Amino acid sequence: MSTDQVIMAGGGIGGLGAALMLARRGVKVRVLERAPEFGEVGAGLQLAPNITRMLKEVGVFEKIAPVSVFPKRLVFMNAKTGEQLTTLDLADAERRYGAPYVVLHRSDLLNALLEAAQAEENITLHTHSMVEGIEDRGDRVVVRTAAGEEYTGELLLGADGLHSRVRKEIVHDEPINSGYVAYRGAVPVEDVDRRMAMDEVVVWMGPGMHLVQYPVRAGKLYNQVAVFRSQEFLEGKEDWGTPEELDRTYAGMCESVRVAIPSLQRNARWAMFDREPAATWTKGRVSLLGDAAHAMLQYLAQGAGQSLLDGAALARALPVLGEGAWSSEALADALQTYEDERVAFAGTVQSTARTWGDIWHVDGYVPMILRDEVFRSRDVYDYSFVDWLYGPVQDAVAAQPAADGAAQPVGAAPVVPSAAPAE
Ligand code: FAD
Repeated sequence: MSTDQVIMAGGGIGGLGAALMLARRGVKVRVLERAPEFGEVGAGLQLAPNITRMLKEVGVFEKIAPVSVFPKRLVFMNAKTGEQLTTLDLADAERRYGAPYVVLHRSDLLNALLEAAQAEENITLHTHSMVEGIEDRGDRVVVRTAAGEEYTGELLLGADGLHSRVRKEIVHDEPINSGYVAYRGAVPVEDVDRRMAMDEVVVWMGPGMHLVQYPVRAGKLYNQVAVFRSQEFLEGKEDWGTPEELDRTYAGMCESVRVAIPSLQRNARWAMFDREPAATWTKGRVSLLGDAAHAMLQYLAQGAGQSLLDGAALARALPVLGEGAWSSEALADALQTYEDERVAFAGTVQSTARTWGDIWHVDGYVPMILRDEVFRSRDVYDYSFVDWLYGPVQDAVAAQPAADGAAQPVGAAPVVPSAAPAE
């Protein structure tokens, strides 16, 4: 049986994106997806400039641009009082970071990646292929699917999501349940009682809850994500985060939030899990990317984007190994280069996403007043809380003097301190 260069377990956004970027740099990839077909849930996704800049560099952005919406503003609102607290001018952010902020339907992103992958002769795609058995034999890795097929590769990459089978080979931990639940979905725009503009991404923040709204698919669909801390979960109920609890939680919010809730789909809900940052994603000939490597809470809207950054980093690190058999030493070096670029940074995004959620969800009168005052007093053109994530700031912008003649701050540290990656 022939040996593949890379076997990719999982064909979600992370797996297909990485396969595509690797294939375009000459690496042969076999993708094993457990589902009967490649697909995504019917909801939206935000991609910030740090992601779209990289997608432009690797020639993938042109695939998704036609199916993306380019909003003008990111708006933060108080969900209880209805007050607008601060905004991010996304046209100015595009100048600052050299790439746009886009929102799109998950299926549109996945289909764009899938079509591009299908056109690559270096990629072989399989569905109905659930990775079960993994055996690292030192000079190669053997993978067995639930259906009994066996594949041999130089490297196995686990892009198999939050409950990753591949991760078990490397990190001994479990997903962490935050006790929050999400109701989400993109529905025809005319089905939503919408109070905010169609060129805005809106975040409504309230005690133990938030609602995010934005248009997708050229404005035909409106995406909404309602997230709340479940009291039923805290009480230990098996059936928690129910539609009745959703209604109870949002009943106390301002009218613009309340009117949005009836248009949410209620037939499915998602418990919000993440994982602790891991110190390494690699063992021998097995490595990780995407949620399998760094599952995070969605409050920075970065999980899928970070998985695409993993793919880009792998596509820089692996092709140096060339077409012959990859020696264990050379492969270890290439994977170390990948980890040096990605592990600590993704860990910081994981930890900061938790803190960001805590800030959005503050409970109690005084904490809310303090949170709102920090947001309210922020200058619209103060980027110090996102430079670390969306940066680097483009040279032309960084060289411009500020109004008082001083140079603008570049690459400021996150306002929320980052935690060091832990085992
Ligand atoms: P997944 O999407 O989970 O894909 C894993 C794939 O592997 C699946 O296709 C699965 O079927 C397959 N698989 C699993 N096990 C096996 C196996 N044993 N063998 C073979 N195949 C297997 N991110 C953003 O960037 N922007 C956002 O705005 C954003 N919003 C979000 C909102 C919510 C409410 C949530 C919950 C998440 C959000 N995210 C966002 C995060 C994002 O959805 C994830 O980080 C991203 O989808 C992870 O992609 P992945 O390919 O790593 O994993």
